Order: sequence, then structure tokens, then C-alpha cells
Amino acid sequence: MTTPTIRLRQMIGGTWADGAGTAERSENPADPDGAPVAEYLTASEEQLEQAMAAAAAAARAWDRRGLLSRGQVLRRAALLMEDRAEDLAMLMTREQGKSLADSRGEVGASVETLHYHAAAARRPNGATYPSSHPDEVVRTIRRPVGTVAVITPWNFPLQIPVWKIAPALLWGNPVVWKPASDTPAMAVALTEILVEAGVPDGALNLLLGPGHLGAALVAHPDTAAVTFTGSVPVGHSIRDAVVPRGAKLQLELGGHNAAVVLPDAHLPSAADAIVAGGMGSTGQKCTATRRVIAVGDCYDALVGELADRVEALVVGPGADEGTALGPVVSAKARDEITTALQQAIDEGAAVLATAPVPDTPGHWVAPTLLAGIPELTICREEVFGPVTTVLRVSDLDAAVELANATDFGLTASVFTRDQRTARRCVDDLVAGLVKVNAPSTGSELHAPFGGLRDSSFPAPREQASDSAAEFFTVGKTAYERLAPEEDS
Ligand code: NAD
Repeated sequence: MTTPTIRLRQMIGGTWADGAGTAERSENPADPDGAPVAEYLTASEEQLEQAMAAAAAAARAWDRRGLLSRGQVLRRAALLMEDRAEDLAMLMTREQGKSLADSRGEVGASVETLHYHAAAARRPNGATYPSSHPDEVVRTIRRPVGTVAVITPWNFPLQIPVWKIAPALLWGNPVVWKPASDTPAMAVALTEILVEAGVPDGALNLLLGPGHLGAALVAHPDTAAVTFTGSVPVGHSIRDAVVPRGAKLQLELGGHNAAVVLPDAHLPSAADAIVAGGMGSTGQKCTATRRVIAVGDCYDALVGELADRVEALVVGPGADEGTALGPVVSAKARDEITTALQQAIDEGAAVLATAPVPDTPGHWVAPTLLAGIPELTICREEVFGPVTTVLRVSDLDAAVELANATDFGLTASVFTRDQRTARRCVDDLVAGLVKVNAPSTGSELHAPFGGLRDSSFPAPREQASDSAAEFFTVGKTAYERLAPEEDS
């Protein structure tokens, strides 16, 4: 039985409205010749103006609701999402391509994230200071920053939006969200949940459309803060538009994450972690392990362990039982990855291992382990797919230097039994997240997350409630003195 195509609309000022732009669709990457997953008309620039006006109109009442009441809205959203978890996971797999296990995991993490920010409403949110005046209290307060533009990628179509939208709303801001064009149905599903949970008209607006709609959103004079996750070139174009006019900005961009493996490492578990980190979600994670740096004489044994695991990976439709890796998200993504892979081979890389892919029209890319040298283009530029390159160095100093020889600085991992080596790597690897004996991917939703160098922008890091409070508010210091008593 074919699943019917979903007709999507924009959410503007509390009303679901047809877009006034051009016709677009999302497809099932495992069955691109089948019926589209969703169809919609993109939002026009006029609808962007309407969404901005609706957000401004909603701001005061949403602020006046208070933190605890807004926290309850997020808690209701968590419960609704949990009720719909299986339907959401199936939709995510149909529209994005990832395995059903990964989709279920992402929905579960998104439910937890909503609960986490709902609970954050109850935390202390300011400090008091002594005053030189006996009748005065000095305290810091947080006020909403203003309309927040949220721009998100397709690789975590639920989790990344929830990371951003939940705290933005919690702190009393109206939101205008432009999700990735490849996963619009997931964006509508999340918006439905938040609206049903009680986010009032205008406090959350959803605009479906291409990148230039996002560019217009971030450049809008009423956008007070921009939170963006996506590629470096787009992130930098947003930075150039936003920084000069002084709006707040949070960028989470690409990575070129290294795994350093020492000769004393437990190689089978290191190989498990590297293959999970490099190939999981078909390599479409910003935190994916792109380079493996084998130190000293562990190279041959490590390559053997890695090759066995890569060859055993089961690639297929995400909805099939037993699939480890689904297709990549689009034909464009597939073509970019295969072109980069061919370029690496032309530049001298050797294929150490691959896994078979289905003989059907899906956007398949064979997971590939390469042997390479640092000069390869693929060792410098992010290729957003299941390709990992193994490099060889003689000692730890050379490994750290090579790991850091990139413009990125998102994550890194080190595999060793020696605590001093681990400590040295935690200190010296230039990455916002450093893992010891663990995959470069994965993070706790309550711990700060973010990169260094080109992987990020110097703003409060994402996820942890303190950083979120910092980003989605402006701080003030209030000096509150009692009025004199009547007869004094
Ligand atoms: P992308 O940069 O192409 O698109 C991201 C979003 O920006 C989409 O919604 C897109 O429509 C929008 N956009 C495109 N052009 C724009 C413009 N000029 N102005 C404003 N918005 C614009 O990225 P993608 O292909 O969707 O995602 C993959 C990239 O995201 C990879 O580089 C990956 O490393 C990165 N990523 C980073 C993190 C992180 O936390 N650091 C997490 C996930 C993905």
C-alpha cells in the first residue's frame, strides 16, 4: 500500500496558510521514484513579513505568561510527542532516510529535550547583590531577547529544531523558523505539536522554503537573534549579514573530526566506536569521524578491525528490519559524496573496505574506508557522507598536530589506556567536544555543545540550559529601592 502524499502549509500568526510561492516536494530517499512524501507551496517574502509582524504582536503576551506557564507548554509538547513517537519516527525515516532505530532514538531524545527545558523553568534565574543602601535590593534579571530566527538542517530534523525552539520559547521569545527544504513534513509535525500544546498564535511561525528565504529572515531588521545549524559557507554568509547590525548570533557548523588511536588502545572497541562514529546515520552527522589517525605500529591491526566492521554494515531502506545505514538524503548529496570519493582516489587514496548497497533507485552510497595522506582534499573539506580516511603517524605529537591541521574544531576522540595520554589529548586537541575511548558522535542534551574555529561562532554553546538562558535572553541589573515611608 502506498502512503499518501502529505499537503503542507505554513504556520503564520496561528493560522495554517498555503504558501504563496513555488511548488516544492520532499521525497523518500530510499524510494525517490515513488510518491512524494510531502508537497507544499513555499512561503513568499510577503508571508515572511506577515510572520515577523505576527511574532512582534505576540511578544508581549507571551512574555507576560511567565516562565513556569511556558514551561508547562513545553511539558505538554513532550507528552504529545511521546504519544506520537512511532508515527514521527516512521515519517522521519520516510522523509530523511535514516534507519527506524535512529529515528526512534531521535524522537526519544527530542521528548527528553522538551522535558529538560520545561524543568529548567524552575531553576534559579538571577542573582542578588548587597547594596550600599539599606532599603535597596540589587538583582540580575533575564528578559526575552526578541524575535528569534531559527534555521535548521535536515540531518536531525526534529532534535536540532527542538534544541533551539524549546529554550527560545521558554525564555519568552517569539520564534520564526525556516527548516531545511528536504524535511518539511517533520517541521510541520513538530509545529503541530507545539501549537496543540498551547504555544499561542504568533509565538511560533513556520516558513517553508529555500535558502534565500532564510537569508531574508536573518537580514530582517526585526530579527533580534539568529540560531543556525548548517554548513560553513551558509553560516558565514549569515554571520556577515547579522554581526554588523548587532543581532545575537549562534552558529553550529561543519566538522572534520579526527579519532587518534594509540598503540596501547583496545583496538576492537576503538574500531566499534570509529565505525559507529564515521558511518552511523550514513555519515550525515556534523560530529562524524572523518579522519582516523593511527599512531605507531597499531596501523595494520586497526585497519583490519575497521575493514571487518565496514564490510559487515547492512545498507538498505531505513524502514527495513536489520538496516544499519539508510540512503543519503538526496540525489544531490549522493552525487557530491561520490564525486569527492572519486577525487580522493584520483589524488592517491586507496579503498580499504566498502559495504554493498541495494540494487534499487534509492540514494545509496557505499560506506567506504580509505587509506590516505593528509594532503588529500577529502582530509581538509567536509564530505557529508559515510567516508572515513585512515592516516598513519609515528608518535603522539604528530597525531595531535595532524588532528588539529584543519579549519574546523567540532569534535575529536582519542583511544588509549593511558590516562596521561588521554589528558594531553583532552587539553590539546582543538575541538569543542573531546571524547576518550568513545565515538566522536553523540552528546548529552544537558551538557554544553559547540565547536571551535570554523565549526562555530563565539556565542554561548548550545543545549545546556544555562547556555540557552544566556543566548535567548538579555541580562539586566535592577536596583530596587523602597520608597520612603509616608511620615519619614
Ligand atoms: P545548509 O547550510 O545547506 O542548510 C542549512 C539551513 O540553512 C537550511 O534550512 C537551508 O535552507 C538554510 N539556508 C541555505 N542557504 C541559506 C542562506 N543563504 N541564508 C540563510 N539560510 C540558508 O546545511 P545542510 O546541508 O542542511 O546540513 C548539513 C551541514 O550542517 C553540514 O555541514 C553539517 O556539518 C552541518 N551540521 C552541523 C551541526 C552542528 O551542530 N555543528 C549539526 C548538524 C549539521
